[in-house]
Amino acid sequence: MAQFSDHDLALRPARHLAIVTCMDSRMDIFQMLGLDHGDAHIIRNAGGVVTDDVIRSLVLSQRQMGTREVILVHHTNCGLQAINEAEFKAELEHEVGIKPWWALECFTDPYTDTRQSINRLRQSPFVPFKEHIRGFVYDVADGRLHEV
Ligand SMILES: [Zn+2]
Repeated sequence: MAQFSDHDLALRPARHLAIVTCMDSRMDIFQMLGLDHGDAHIIRNAGGVVTDDVIRSLVLSQRQMGTREVILVHHTNCGLQAINEAEFKAELEHEVGIKPWWALECFTDPYTDTRQSINRLRQSPFVPFKEHIRGFVYDVADGRLHEV
């Protein structure tokens, strides 16, 4: 690996930043936010939802890895906007015989959904640093980020 140039990057994110975002394949988070390797933690799931596991990662990110700022990026035309949660779960239960115990967290408006995630984060007793939490909606039609 003589060509590998990232060998001297620090374990702790250089910009003290953690980003929570959707797994959507159209979003290249580093490129979108002008970040380089080593700059930030990226925590992704379907919808960029603030789940218990996202809280788990953020607590580790802040307490052990020194991040102090959180950026949430949701987006337009998300897969979760096109699904009826009750129907989806009923269908799944019918097929596999077990009712899913987790929420799919479908939503209609990405801006409302981003505010919901910000509020969840602010309410969490485990997240120590909440002074710098920002939310954005990425418009997949024109590539623009809109702050919420
Ligand atoms: Zn999405």
